[in-house]
Order: sequence, then C-alpha cells, then structure tokens
Amino acid sequence: MRFYYLLILFSISLIAQSQPQVPKDYFENPLDVPLVLSGTFGELRSNHFHSGLDIKTQQREGLAVKSAAPGHVSRIKIQHYGYGKALYIQHPNGYTTVYGHLQRFSPEIEAYVKKHQYANESYEIELFPEAGELQVESGELVAYSGNTGGSGGLHLHFEIRDGSQRPMNPKLFGIEVQDNRKPLINGLFAYPMDADSHINHSAERQRIRLIPLKDGTYTTEKLNACGKVGFGISTVDQQDMASNQNGVYKIEANLNGDNVFQLNFDRFSFAETRHLNQLIDYEYYTSNRLRVQKLFVEESNPLSLYANVQSEGRLDIQDDLDYNYTITVTDFAGNESVIRVPIQGEFSESIQPKKLEETEYFVQANQSFSTEQNGIDIYIPKGSLYQDKYLDISFNGNTVNLHRDDTPIHQNITIGFDVSKYEAAEKEKMFIAKLGYGNRPSYSSTYKKGDRFTTGIRTFGNYTLASDNNAPWISPVNFSNGQWISNNSTLKVKISDDLSGIKSYRATVNGKFILMEYEYKDNMLTHDFADGAVTETENDFKLIVTDNVGNVNTYEAKFFKK
Ligand SMILES: [Zn+2]
Repeated sequence: MRFYYLLILFSISLIAQSQPQVPKDYFENPLDVPLVLSGTFGELRSNHFHSGLDIKTQQREGLAVKSAAPGHVSRIKIQHYGYGKALYIQHPNGYTTVYGHLQRFSPEIEAYVKKHQYANESYEIELFPEAGELQVESGELVAYSGNTGGSGGLHLHFEIRDGSQRPMNPKLFGIEVQDNRKPLINGLFAYPMDADSHINHSAERQRIRLIPLKDGTYTTEKLNACGKVGFGISTVDQQDMASNQNGVYKIEANLNGDNVFQLNFDRFSFAETRHLNQLIDYEYYTSNRLRVQKLFVEESNPLSLYANVQSEGRLDIQDDLDYNYTITVTDFAGNESVIRVPIQGEFSESIQPKKLEETEYFVQANQSFSTEQNGIDIYIPKGSLYQDKYLDISFNGNTVNLHRDDTPIHQNITIGFDVSKYEAAEKEKMFIAKLGYGNRPSYSSTYKKGDRFTTGIRTFGNYTLASDNNAPWISPVNFSNGQWISNNSTLKVKISDDLSGIKSYRATVNGKFILMEYEYKDNMLTHDFADGAVTETENDFKLIVTDNVGNVNTYEAKFFKK
C-alpha cells in the first residue's frame, strides 16, 4: 500500500516537473481570427528568448484585440521602440496578459492615455492605473492590432506572465494552434571539449551530415570519438497555414536510452533571458546567421529552461565502447523529429588540434579588467564576459578596435575617451560612435563630463570619436505654409537626423503643446486632429527637433482649419 502511495507521489512530482500546473481554459484567443503564428514562445532572438506569441493579423492593422480574461488594466506603456503601444491586464488569479505593438487602444482606454499624454506633454509614457479605474470583461475590446515599436511586420505580440512577472508559454494554458508539421532540423554539430578529446580525429567543431531514413527520422554515419564531447542542433518549427520558421517546444537528448539533457520552453525570467548568448554557439551564429543550440550547459549558464541535465549534457566517450546518442525535437502539438547518432569510442594519437587565438589581453570572466592607451580607456567589469577569453584589442589614434562581435557581452563594458585636446565648441558636437559596415559611424549613448566622454557597450567592435554638425531634417507631408487643411484628419511631418540621431521633438500650435506620435520606421510624426487640441481657424504650427549632440532645427508654418 505504502509503496503504491509513494509511486503515485513520485509520478505526480514527475508530471509537475515536466509541465507547470496552470488553468487550461481560463484565457481566450485575444483576436477573432484563427491563431496563426509568426513567432512562438522561447523562440531564439537577438540576445533574448521571445517572451510570448506573435499572432499574425492577416496583413492588416486594426483588428479588434480583446482581453483574454476578466481583470483590470494594470499598466500601459508607450515607447518609440520595444513593444510600441502596449497594454497589461492583471487578472484576479494572479496572471498578467500583455498585448504589444498596438495601433491604438479602445475609445475608453485611448481617452485615459491621451489625457495623461497631454498632461505630461509626451508621446512616450508609462501608466499604472488603479484596480478600479479600467476594469475589463473577458472578450472585451481593449485595443486594435498594429505594428508600433520594434516590430518587423503586422502582428499582435501576446504574453501571459505568472505572479512573479515571468513570461510563460501561452500554449500551456490551452491556447491551441493548428500544427501537423514536424520540427525542421537545419543542422547537427559536434563539439570536442577537452584538449585530448576528438571527433573523427579533430579537436574542432564539426558539422555532421544528416542521413534521412524512410521512417522520417535521421541518422548519421558512425562517429569516431574519445573523451568529453557535446552536440548542438539548429532546428525550427513550422506550423500549418504559414511558412514562418518558429521556435520548437522541447529538445531532449538520450545516451544509450537514458535521458541526459532537456530544454523545455515553458517559462523563464527576464533576468536570465540574455543567457541565450551562451545557449547558442554565438561565434557560429555571427559568421553563419544560423542559431545552433548547444545540448550541453556552459558552467556559468543559470538558465531555468534546462531539465534532467546529466554531467552538463557532456558525454564522456571511452575507448572501445559503443554509444547510441539520440536527439528528439518536439513542437507543442507533439510532432517529433528524431536523430540517431551512433558513436564508436576510439582513442586517437593523431588529433588535429584546435586553433587557439592568444593575444596580450587575457580577460577572466569572473574578474574585472582595464587597459588604457591613446587617451582611450576600457573597463570590463566582472561578469561582462561569459567565459575567459583572449581579447584582440588595438588602438589607432582616436579609434579603439575592441575585439570582434563574434564574442557576446553580458553586461556593459565602459569605454572612456580623453577629449581635453579639443575646443569646447568642438566637444559640443562630438560623440562616441561605433563604426559599422563601411566604417559608417552610429551613435553610442555618450555621457559627457568635463574632458571625458564615456559610453557603455554590449557589442564588441570599433569605437571612435565622431562629430555631428548638422541639425535634424524636417519636412511637412500633408500640408504647406499658409494652406487651408480643413479636410485633413491628421498633420504629418517627416523628421530624420544623419549622424547622432534624434533625441527629442516638441510640437505646438499657437504656443500650446500638441501630441505627435513618432513612428521611427517611416520617420513620421503624426498629430490626430480628433484629439481636439487644435481649436482655432488660424494656427501657428511650430516643431522643434533636437539631435543627440544638441543641434536644433525649428520648423514653423501657418495653417487654416474649420
Ligand atoms: Zn513578439
């Protein structure tokens, strides 16, 4: 009796471990259209895991977005980048749903937002309404879908967060997406890990050829190996009704039938998301644009997406023994792709060694490091690098060549420039720039204090001092000076800045602030006359745009409106 009781307890705890317990029919589809995804939960993105579902909106803006469950609007955030216009709804059971890249809000919420935008005289805003202020029912219209902020196409970004604001896989809550297609395997890679380990007599990373079998699974030629080795896989999921390449749900590895590694995209925290950079083979990604997920865990990687990891997922291959390594990739609907890798343990005396790069700058990940030359100083706090590394650093006049972008940075490295040799007027127009493709300078947030400029960076590369002597460019789109525009519903102006970039803008009519929404993707400022901010017939419009070094352009025009 007791034995069975223990057995039941044991299996319950196994289930609890494999998938978080959540309500299954609490949240509804926030759109009226069938769920077709351009992005899944946990999908690999630049420096982060995708924290929700990207739901396609039939190439349109303005689809009704509805609250997925009853609750109250707990947060509204509007920013030029990021989620653009975003709405957060807190539900009584502790979960929060998030709706991003919105075109606009429902009339009631829109009025609430505009009131605060006019009071703050700012388009960008963050509001935390009280529980009683904006109550919503399940299925109630709260917004319209759009493409605002850092969005690469028309869609709704939808998130479900737990009580600790950790994003969870919305599909765990019973939100279903039609999917009858297996995950695609784009590549398999093998990594010898020690000085004396090898795969096919080489100590270098290797791409392993996949052999498709009749039953839909894959195998490989038998690998010769010895010592500590690991594997990596590039895989994406495709779902029905769309060709988008999305993230998979689960990756599992077994050695001789025993589970040695699992990666489950159920839940993570924003604090850990940047550790994606050590889940993937970052260097390979930089040169090949293919994200290979390692099926072993780097020592300093705290990601909570891992489960059942034995010996960090590393295999210890012994001379003269046979092994069967199996990788299973699963999507949320349960479609599977399987790769079987036969391995023959074989000691090798002639291993082609790994090419090692040594420079005069050896940086330990758990210690800070600094160096200085040509009036340029570099400070790398501990924890900035994921691993100990020789960095390739050189100084040429005003420029520092700070290693290469194939090494990821976890937290800011500081670069300082001594600018004492420049005149005050010159310094005013100067900024720290990253040199991009074709040595084109781009603005790196520059802090100026006396004779020292500093910037914090999270990408290696070439940094220099540049100057911007040109004011931003302003051009009206749907009106001109002296015109009657009674039929216009909006006032549109294009703005841009060549070098340092736009820092701020402010528009007034007859001396009074008017709200203009900024869309960086088409350099457009838009005022909506429906705001009721323009009340006179004769109007003096004034727009002041400032760039990041303080160059100012002012545009003035008169327009008439009835
Ligand atoms: Zn998204």
